[in-house]
Formats: sequence, structure tokens, C-alpha cells
Amino acid sequence: MRSNQVFRIQAMILWHNLEENWMLREERILVMKKRSYLPMILFFFLLVSLLGIYFFLNHGIVGLEKSSEVTRIQQTNLPVKVHFIHVGQGDAIFLEVLGENILIDAGEQEAADTIITYLQSYDVEKLHRVFLTHPHEDHMGGMGDVLAAFEIGAFYRPDKELVTKSFQRMTDALTKKNIPTTLLRGGQRIEFSKEVYLDILSPNKEVYLNVNNYSPIMRLVVGQKAFLFTGDAEAVIEEEVLSLHKELQADVLQVPHHGSKTSSTEAFIQAVSPRYALISSGLQNMHNLPSPEILLRYEAMGSSVLLLEELGNIVFGTNGKEVIPLSN
Ligand SMILES: [Zn+2]
Ligand SMILES: [Zn+2]
Repeated sequence: MRSNQVFRIQAMILWHNLEENWMLREERILVMKKRSYLPMILFFFLLVSLLGIYFFLNHGIVGLEKSSEVTRIQQTNLPVKVHFIHVGQGDAIFLEVLGENILIDAGEQEAADTIITYLQSYDVEKLHRVFLTHPHEDHMGGMGDVLAAFEIGAFYRPDKELVTKSFQRMTDALTKKNIPTTLLRGGQRIEFSKEVYLDILSPNKEVYLNVNNYSPIMRLVVGQKAFLFTGDAEAVIEEEVLSLHKELQADVLQVPHHGSKTSSTEAFIQAVSPRYALISSGLQNMHNLPSPEILLRYEAMGSSVLLLEELGNIVFGTNGKEVIPLSN
């Protein structure tokens, strides 16, 4: 009887302990459950905000996209930057060279506002030098308006005039502001420093049959790196500069004549051997530029073909040792 009672008491204690243990465990689980939500929520918010920051840095916020990109490019501490401004059919290239602002061509007349806004977004008030490659509308159309919008240091163009409204607007702006004009010839050099200069490689003749061929081939040298600008020069000019043994090698090439078949001979591409071949026209424009055959020719020679039509504005920076794509 007694041992039976002891056993019952022991059994009761055991049961009680078990029950208590069980309750304790459940309580612990509850506490654990309560505690475990907070870090998860915090982690989730952290993840979302990190993803958000990553997204905005890469893609920009709608409406702020341009200014954040401009800030990023402006803050890049490189002495030379080359901006290929997307103006549809036509050319407009903005160079920042050791503190000088330089413009090569000004697209069609409708492109003037795009170019002016673009330059203003980079705080440009003065263009130290402006180049016109040749008097065709897709290079000169916006020139009058652009010259009127900024303080201009010097103006350069080849010795070829056309009787057009755009040419007149340009001439009027130059006269009104009393801007000196230099006629471009092969052999000229504009020196920014010992290591940074712009070589004018053509034109080398007085007269060309096609207006496109007055376009100067210009090579911007920055230390060990180079950019080649070509306007609408055709095969005859490529052969001309090759036969004169001009140094043509460049890391970045503005593909001549918007990627047309009139230009980009194999010998020329080989001499330039560009890492990046930039084309300022689209696959669907009315001139059928660029030619698919020309695109393949560059790719076959190991160049990356970049279309402004696809990528928008394209900017490169260089310190003379490497060429760095800054956007797109
Ligand atoms: Zn053109
Ligand atoms: Zn042209």
C-alpha cells in the first residue's frame, strides 16, 4: 500500500514535471516565434532598399536619369572626355579636352535644341572651338543656333561653301559674334599639351568632287590613346591619308559617313584597328545606313560596333592609358 502510494506520488511528480517542461518548451517556441520575425522583416527591408539603390544607380529614376548620369560623368576625374550625342541622322560630338569645350558638327536644324540642352547639362557656357566637317545639313543644320547659344572661341571648317539657308545662318552667327574662322588643311595640329593634341590629317587637296570628301580626318591623341573623327569622308580620302602614311590607329573610331558603303575600306579599318566603332545613324533611317555589310566588316576585324540609335548618347573618358566607356 505504501509503496503503491510512493509510486503514485512519483508518477504525479513526473507527470507534473513533464507538463511543466512541455509548457516551458511551448513558451520558448512562442518567444522564439515572436523574436524571429523582426530580423526577417529588417533583412527584407534592407534587401529591398539595396535592390532599389542598385536599380536607380543603374537605370536612373524617370526624369532624374539624365542629371544623375551627368553628375556621374562630371565627377569622373578624367582629363579628356568624348561625348557622341545622339541626334538621329547626323553628327554632333562634344569633346572635353583639358578644360576646353569643343564641338564637332551640330546635326540637322531640329537637333539644335538637343545639342544645346545637352551642353548646358554639362554647364557649358563657352565652346572654345567649334568644327564643321562639311556643309551638309546633317552636320551643319543646327550650327547657326548652337553658335548663337554659346560664347565661341574659334571656328574651323574646310574650304568648301554651299549656298544654303543653314550655311547662311552659320555665317551670320559667325559674323555677328565676330568669331574668327580657320580653314582646315591636312598637316595642321592643335596642341592642348605635349601629350594631348588634335592632328588634322585631311583635306590635302584643293578640290574634291563630292562635298563629303572635304570632311577632315581628325585624330585626337591623348598619351597612348587616340580617337579618330571622320565626318562623311569616303574611300578616296581613306586612300589619300593611307598613301600619305598618316598615323591612323585609334581606340575609338567615328565610323565614316554613318556606316555607309562609300567608306570603311578594309585597308582603312586595318590601319585604324579600332576597339570601338561608333555609328551615328540607325538601321531604319531613310538612307539605309549603316550598311549591314560594313557592320560585319568591323566585327570581323574585332571591333565592337556601337550604334547611337540603339544606345543613345555614348561617352568615353581617357587618362591617356586606357579608354573607359562612361555610359551605356
Ligand atoms: Zn552625314
Ligand atoms: Zn555629308
